[in-house]
Amino acid sequence: MKITAGTTVQALQAGLPLDPLENRILLCHALRLTRVGLITNAERALTREEAALLDALVARRQAGEPIAYIVGQREFFGLPFQVGPAVLIPRPDTELIVELALERLAPAARMLDMGTGSGAIAVAVAHTRPDAVVTALDLSDDALHVARANASANRANVRFLRSDWFAALGTDQFDLIASNPPYIASGDEHLAQGDLRFEPSGALTDFADGLSALHTIIEGAPAHLVAGGWLLLEHGYDQAAAVRDALLDAGYTEVQSWRDLGGIERVSGGRRG
Ligand code: GLN
Repeated sequence: MKITAGTTVQALQAGLPLDPLENRILLCHALRLTRVGLITNAERALTREEAALLDALVARRQAGEPIAYIVGQREFFGLPFQVGPAVLIPRPDTELIVELALERLAPAARMLDMGTGSGAIAVAVAHTRPDAVVTALDLSDDALHVARANASANRANVRFLRSDWFAALGTDQFDLIASNPPYIASGDEHLAQGDLRFEPSGALTDFADGLSALHTIIEGAPAHLVAGGWLLLEHGYDQAAAVRDALLDAGYTEVQSWRDLGGIERVSGGRRG
């Protein structure tokens, strides 16, 4: 449908060429209405400006741009995160590593999030556990800019560091290290599909076999973990066995994997021996 001035909110809710959830997200965004506002404003007619804006947003979505980038926001762990093309869009799957970290942090424990992107893991932990001493690093200045905004918007006290994995950490020690690193193999067909086409490739792929960043973290983490400290790693659906093997080879104990809501082994980890 062509979106024109005078079209009512009610007509748009049924008439946009998107799935109902995305339809509602774009309508709320363009009209600055809450979900309830859409219902109570059902009879409201669009102004010419609103119609033009909505038309442009729908066209962007139809061209494949992720809905989270179009509205600049995605909810993660019940918190609003600002997102844009500098960062991976937080996935519900990643809430698993947040839960595992929260279960393992003693009072006032020190945690490190490596490759924080939007800050999702670090901010969710620091927001939930204000006693935790949370550090987050990323190689990308643009990502750190977004992550800092998310920490302050969610009142999460996080120390941010620009670092190529362990390079800028000095002798810092942590009780727990968590990471959702790039783990998709270069050439994987998923990189050419859906939202991934628009996300920063350096956040998705290691430009190698998918395991190289995971190996770098597994090998470097013991120098920055206290004895008994946990390393938790998110990985791809078919990488759990390889990650467990690498953890065992590097001398970690209590090596295990955990399943996400879809039943897929999504996080593996172990403790520094
Ligand atoms: N979970 C993301 C996806 O498959 C990938 C994230 C990552 O590489 N760390 O869409």
